Amino acid sequence: MTQDYKRVALIGLGLIASSMAHAMRRADLGTDIVGTARSAETRDIAREIGLCDKVVDTAAEAVKDADLVVLAVPVGAMSGVAAEIGPHLRPGTTVTDVGSVKRAVIDAVAPHLPEGVHFIPGHPLAGTEHSGPRSGFAELFDNRFCLLVPEGTQDPVALEKLQHFWLALGANVETMEPDHHDLVLAVTSHAPHLIAYTMVGVADDLRRVTDSEVIKFSAAGFRDFTRIAASDPTMWRDVFLNNKAATLEILGRFTEELFALQRAIRTEDGDHLHDYFTRTRAIRRGIIEAGQDTDAPDFGRSGSKPSPTTKE
Ligand code: NAP
Repeated sequence: MTQDYKRVALIGLGLIASSMAHAMRRADLGTDIVGTARSAETRDIAREIGLCDKVVDTAAEAVKDADLVVLAVPVGAMSGVAAEIGPHLRPGTTVTDVGSVKRAVIDAVAPHLPEGVHFIPGHPLAGTEHSGPRSGFAELFDNRFCLLVPEGTQDPVALEKLQHFWLALGANVETMEPDHHDLVLAVTSHAPHLIAYTMVGVADDLRRVTDSEVIKFSAAGFRDFTRIAASDPTMWRDVFLNNKAATLEILGRFTEELFALQRAIRTEDGDHLHDYFTRTRAIRRGIIEAGQDTDAPDFGRSGSKPSPTTKE
């Protein structure tokens, strides 16, 4: 496989960055991978497992001579990292990120980048509930979408190289406008996560059952909620604080629909419930037909490997 980047710097070495490192190796890109993370503990683990060709102590050091810099830290940490690396970036370098929100990341990062640096925000729609440098695996992005958000007049060659890079990592690539991205993700990921967090919180409030029945008799629906609600608290705090308007808009609509369903149950309007569930079932079929999930029972999750999802 030909390489467009001689050196890639991964800033943050969690689930997404470590999966990118594995996928780059699998693709045999021949790219020099330099990584760094905030804590000495994460950097030590990365060295121990040979995640990168080189692990350095600071982000400033990591971006030196890099052709591609990937910001793979929580959304709320993007600004600080960008401020640190800005003075060390050379013209012609491409900076991208993998944050789950796009408008806030653009506002946080762009002001710190010098002239001549290509900033192309991105978001791979793939994740699991696991985090940290040991959680990554090469297949995470296979057949998942990676959305690139080139704002304004981006260099077409820089964009093409980044598209090529994500294709090599197994992803399908599409471009999208940032506010549209944030609205779509509020529907498909952010609001569903909040609902899962809430449902698991409600169960936890019912202490009587939490200690025993909820765990023991955990049915598929609740188990799926608990998996989602086990996602990294820092990452998700930052997602909601940085995609506030779109998430609140979708949650408003959700609440209206919930009230309508609540009324249908109270008034025993079975037709309303049946019609609604028929409509939602078709959406699940559409996702399977689009190859974005499997129709295996239990969502094909019975294997030992963490299940890639489009949760993010
Ligand atoms: P992760 O496994 O929790 O790893 C986060 C990394 O960021 C760690 O290396 C951590 O360093 C570092 N970090 C945390 N806070 C920091 C700070 N204040 N300053 C500098 N570095 C900091 O996270 P992840 O799941 O890979 O997520 C990374 C990004 O990808 C996030 O923006 C997230 O929104 C996005 N994303 C996540 C998923 C998903 O499902 N997980 C999917 C798509 C996109 P230490 O280890 O040293 O603490």
